[in-house]
Amino acid sequence: MKLQILKCEKCNEYTLKEKCSKCDSKTINPKPAKYSETDRMSKYRNIARKAQ
Ligand SMILES: [Zn+2]
Repeated sequence: MKLQILKCEKCNEYTLKEKCSKCDSKTINPKPAKYSETDRMSKYRNIARKAQ
């Protein structure tokens, strides 16, 4: 999967670009792929697994 959905945290907008077209700030990857940061993310991982 090459197209990656990124998100601007300021505008709460999803985009495919590395910079937000509205506020020009750097976008982030909303779903961590390989590494999990905290246990708080585990429920999001479950949702992502179901969606695939
Ligand atoms: Zn923005």
